[in-house]
Amino acid sequence: MNESAPIRGGNVVPTNNLEAFWMPFSANRQFKEAPRMFIGAKDMHYTTADGRQVLDGTAGLWCVNAGHCRPKITEAIAKQAAELDYAPAFQMGHPKAFELASRLAALAPTGLDHVFFTNSGSESVETALKIALAYHRVKGEGARFRLIGRERGYHGVNFGGISVGGIVGNRKMFGTLLTGVDHMRHTHDPVRNPYSDGEAEHGVELAEDLSRIATLHDPSTIAAVIVEPVAGSTGVLPPPKGYLKRLREICDQHGILLIFDEVITGYGRMGAAFAADHFGVTPDIIVSAKGLSNGVIPMGAVFVRDTIYEAFMQGPEHMIEFAHGYTYSGNPIASAAALATLDTYREEGLFERAKALTPVWADAIQSLKGTRHVIDIRTTGLIGAVELEPIPGQPTKRAFSAFLKAYEKGLLIRTTGDIIALSPPLIISEDQIGEIVDTLKMVLNDVE
Ligand code: PMP
Repeated sequence: MNESAPIRGGNVVPTNNLEAFWMPFSANRQFKEAPRMFIGAKDMHYTTADGRQVLDGTAGLWCVNAGHCRPKITEAIAKQAAELDYAPAFQMGHPKAFELASRLAALAPTGLDHVFFTNSGSESVETALKIALAYHRVKGEGARFRLIGRERGYHGVNFGGISVGGIVGNRKMFGTLLTGVDHMRHTHDPVRNPYSDGEAEHGVELAEDLSRIATLHDPSTIAAVIVEPVAGSTGVLPPPKGYLKRLREICDQHGILLIFDEVITGYGRMGAAFAADHFGVTPDIIVSAKGLSNGVIPMGAVFVRDTIYEAFMQGPEHMIEFAHGYTYSGNPIASAAALATLDTYREEGLFERAKALTPVWADAIQSLKGTRHVIDIRTTGLIGAVELEPIPGQPTKRAFSAFLKAYEKGLLIRTTGDIIALSPPLIISEDQIGEIVDTLKMVLNDVE
């Protein structure tokens, strides 16, 4: 049966499909009322099912850093698919995965020279947490079993990630989660840091939460702490000045591993390869995905410090193999996509471009101050957050209406709670930045 029904905007979609696909992080019921479908994309724009162009203000889901359907990447994928489509990931290899690992090691901060491949940000997080726990065991410090995360942290959706993550809504349906986890406070403080650009002025003292938690549980029981250098999904929370450095010091003091979740901030979004470079703080493990393959093929990579890798290499014989990995770790087509993505970033100087655009971006987004409903704005790298005053008793409603209106007006934004999050592809032009701001002004004046 190919039942079709006209819907708003002239789209025609098979209605039976809207039941079959149980959509992630979406209320299917709401989506069915006004489906929004993309059927094409090029550079900075999506094409909708009814033929409209939509400016991509979010790089898909913070991932399409080089813009859409870039020929170099699509051609590399087609070529690889015809040449070697799949190779077993365990005990076997293929050259592209090794080439990619070397290229990534050269891109990563000094000392993080070893790469473990995954297929997503969530898998990268699990991998990092497991490496941290296993590392201490390999060294004979198995008593280090605790993991520390942070309120409002987003580390994907698998059990380790939601346990160290700090989003109540993502945790409450799923029982007890991992034990031995504690959380630092988040760093969102719009009262002391209103309309902030770059690192927040106030809040370095929040890093002392790590000391307090370590002392509470006995520091020798703590394996690792994981933070996003800039919390993204919960509304763009740049770190307070000196905060990451202080976390690093406390970790060093107590032998705790520091993990940066750079799934959003990696691959140029901060105007540097990684936020670790931008902030000048090197963690022990970096978690990445998204921009690694321009979001085109699922892929993630975990970067590990030499000392951690060496501990495994020289560990006891019965632990010689890190018992972890995925059928698609270092998949040939994903590796080819990532290599072409890295080439594109380098040839087009996209990280430098993001750096040069950062002040232009900040000025433009901060100029929304004073627009109706806006109560705070945060900008850092090519990321922005416009926080709206919630409608009393109806949290998220205003921002979601803004999302729908922006889509109608040809702009893709993302909302989280009552916060509009922006993270365009790094190829965005100054005119297109202006277009985002103008459209948002119109939209905000229009929503109730
Ligand atoms: N960590 C962070 C910081 C993220 O932003 C995300 C995704 N938004 C993830 C992990 C999870 O990535 P994925 O959806 O690819 O599993």
